[in-house]
Amino acid sequence: MMIKTIGVVGAGSMGAGIANLAALNGFNVVLRDIKDSYLEGAMARINKFMSKSVERGKMTEEQKQETLSRIQTTTKLEDLKDVDVVIEAVLEDLDLKKEVFSQLDEIVREDVIITTNTSSMSITEIAAATKRPDRVAGMHFFNPAQLMKLVEIVRGYETSDDTVSTLKALSVQLKKEVVEVKKDTPGFIVNRIMIPQFIEAIRLLEEGVASAEDIDKAVKFGLNYPMGPFELQDYAGVDIGYHVMEYFNNEFNDPRFAPPLLMKQMMRAGRFGKKSGAGFYDYEEKKELVKK
Ligand code: NAD
Repeated sequence: MMIKTIGVVGAGSMGAGIANLAALNGFNVVLRDIKDSYLEGAMARINKFMSKSVERGKMTEEQKQETLSRIQTTTKLEDLKDVDVVIEAVLEDLDLKKEVFSQLDEIVREDVIITTNTSSMSITEIAAATKRPDRVAGMHFFNPAQLMKLVEIVRGYETSDDTVSTLKALSVQLKKEVVEVKKDTPGFIVNRIMIPQFIEAIRLLEEGVASAEDIDKAVKFGLNYPMGPFELQDYAGVDIGYHVMEYFNNEFNDPRFAPPLLMKQMMRAGRFGKKSGAGFYDYEEKKELVKK
């Protein structure tokens, strides 16, 4: 089946980035959120992202306008009835995702693959909310979706080989590097590796082994990572990392994944990272939460 139009559900950080990425690669997009104001915000962010590319001489103003014209926004899920594939990027809430999948199952054509951009949740459980679990898979992009090269294609228990090969081909058309995650495991590959690293970094800080700044510095210069674990958690949201740890802890039933006490205290103190003005660092003066 030729994919021409991609439905994107949820126009937050990820949904807007994915819609932009798809339009940049010549696809038509129908982008759905629940409020017009959220869609206006998403289009403003997309516009801003491409304006920077125009300023840097990476695209012309006409190419930007053409790309924008390929994105249709809507608050009505029914407007996705003619799309050829769906990428869901609503909040990381299992019940919400199941509800959206069961509604989409009634709206889109029978042959259409419905994917989820979930960071950690069970593809099998989301797929079970539909009558097409063989045509459901994880399609996990990274933030910002326009720039980050990787896509993880994740199999649920019933996902068919055809579905996986169609999604791999689509990822290549979106100019991504693609990996197949053969089993439905919490966090897939990248987050399964990254979350224990976050936990270990927080434990080092709790034990007073080094300051947050020195742990970040050690990881950046010793492992050649672009960001340290505390910078990255503050950027992505301390609350998001916390919920993923809790989910891992419950799914694996393994205390290795339990959120450290410091993380719980930060949640109680509302230190969610950059978005709340403070996380492991204080963004007015980049001061550490826990002193050596
Ligand atoms: P976000 O909070 O920025 O955006 C979520 C959007 O979904 C909001 O605009 C909200 O209004 C909308 N929404 C809620 N219910 C909806 C519905 N029924 N229909 C349509 N839209 C609805 O969240 P985000 O950071 O973009 O994350 C979205 C998904 O992507 C989550 O599953 C998250 O785990 C995953 N993800 C996030 C990142 C990241 O770094 N932020 C990276 C990879 C994957």
